[in-house]
Amino acid sequence: MALEAEAKRMVAQFEYSAEEVNKGVREFVREMEEGLAKQGTSISQIPTYVTSVPNGTEKGVYLAVDLGGTNFRVCSVTLHGNQSFSLQQSKVPVPRALMEAKTSHELFSFLAKQIEAFLKTHHLDHFEKHKAQPGEVDYFDLGFTFSFPVNQVGINKGKLMRWTKGFNIDEALGQDVCELLQKEIDSLGLPVRVAALVNDTVGTLMARSYTSPGKTSTLIGAIFGTGTNGAYVEKLDRVKKMKEIDDATGGAANYDATTGLMVINTEWGSFDNPLKVLPNTQYDIDLDKESVNPGIQMFEKRVSGMFLGEILRRALLSLYQHPDAGVALFKDESSHTNDIRSTTTVADDSPLFKQWGIDTSFLSIVEEDQSDHLRITKQVLEKELKVEAASTEDCVAVKMLVHAIGKRAARLAAVALGGVVLSTNKLQEDETVDIGVDGSLVEYYPGFEEYIREAFREIEGIGEEEKRIRIGLAKDGSGLGAALIALVAHNAE
Ligand code: ADP
Repeated sequence: MALEAEAKRMVAQFEYSAEEVNKGVREFVREMEEGLAKQGTSISQIPTYVTSVPNGTEKGVYLAVDLGGTNFRVCSVTLHGNQSFSLQQSKVPVPRALMEAKTSHELFSFLAKQIEAFLKTHHLDHFEKHKAQPGEVDYFDLGFTFSFPVNQVGINKGKLMRWTKGFNIDEALGQDVCELLQKEIDSLGLPVRVAALVNDTVGTLMARSYTSPGKTSTLIGAIFGTGTNGAYVEKLDRVKKMKEIDDATGGAANYDATTGLMVINTEWGSFDNPLKVLPNTQYDIDLDKESVNPGIQMFEKRVSGMFLGEILRRALLSLYQHPDAGVALFKDESSHTNDIRSTTTVADDSPLFKQWGIDTSFLSIVEEDQSDHLRITKQVLEKELKVEAASTEDCVAVKMLVHAIGKRAARLAAVALGGVVLSTNKLQEDETVDIGVDGSLVEYYPGFEEYIREAFREIEGIGEEEKRIRIGLAKDGSGLGAALIALVAHNAE
């Protein structure tokens, strides 16, 4: 019982009250508005130059490519115009040597060759007609998902700021990545035009908007995976900093201003930096201190898949190392396993002792566990954490902490989503407000959406209207979503 009482005390530290949620939302709305007014703010609010979203009636064949980290994906998407689509794709690993090539030509010509091979496999007729008589067939518009930091200055213009994820080609820095790809496509003589540079959250927004039921277009695309971020549809005249950006980048000629809309990439992972309103336990503080970027991405560090396992690990470790042995975790000397009395042991090389030792999928398994005496939790503790013969009391304590950390993450997710819903005034304007989400956390963590909804009901300005907010999974942001961005880019010309 002593262990349970101590676990309860720790759980209380992760509680994120309705009052705090509301305080978070007010600050989120304030930072969103500040981000629309000027550059260099906590929430960046980056204009994406996407000025409309699809409604499911769009038709045609579009290409999409995705250079994320290890793989390069090429796909073609056929939009049937009735919210359905078909998709063909290929995936190749990017050779290590090309990630650190001397020239950008080496990498981008490799990418163009993959596009050529894809066209020969899936669109041979189109490819050959173009070869025989250039100009005979239409060009494919292509959406380019490029998951590295770029300074985007137009729908298909963005300069590489820095490489991440093991890539390092100095010569490409400061260059327009769409132009680099287009040059190599042209030198192979392919009927392909790089129409849009795509951010994955915008892809999620577009994919959901095309497939969402009814005529409602989607307001937000949000990712809760390794990281967290969101993009949403803003009224162009609310983007006060647009003029300043236009002056620096060649003006409204860069995009179609007639829709009066602009999709904004919030980069909300950095909400509340420096910290004012976010909950902050000792475990959050230590995680941040020992991370590669202390003080940065403080919202993301409490919400996304990359960090929840590590928060849990720190909480469990502190309970394991509790000075009072009678209270500590995994210290049972007579736990029952199949009616055999045994002593709980934690292996010296248990991931419990290693930074990043617990994956967030562990939390999903424990949260889901409804078995007798938490048998499944016991098994996963043994398999993943090398804890043998954990007692039921241990498992109860682990489950309580898992639940507290997962639920806090979902309630924080509600702060961001609710903040966008309120700031855009969408509940007043539309009957239904649609949100598309993607990422393993929101897809697999049991109850994640319900905890978001529970928090929505506690938010002043949403309350009972939570019923009019629809949340749907939007998969394939870098395939379908990127193809749709290529389409709207084409139509905007
Ligand atoms: P990415 O965001 O990198 O595109 P994912 O959406 O799959 O990819 O997110 C990966 C993250 O989700 C990792 O941090 C991982 O720990 C976490 N994750 C993977 N499986 C699960 C699961 N079943 N439940 C909760 N989190 C998970």
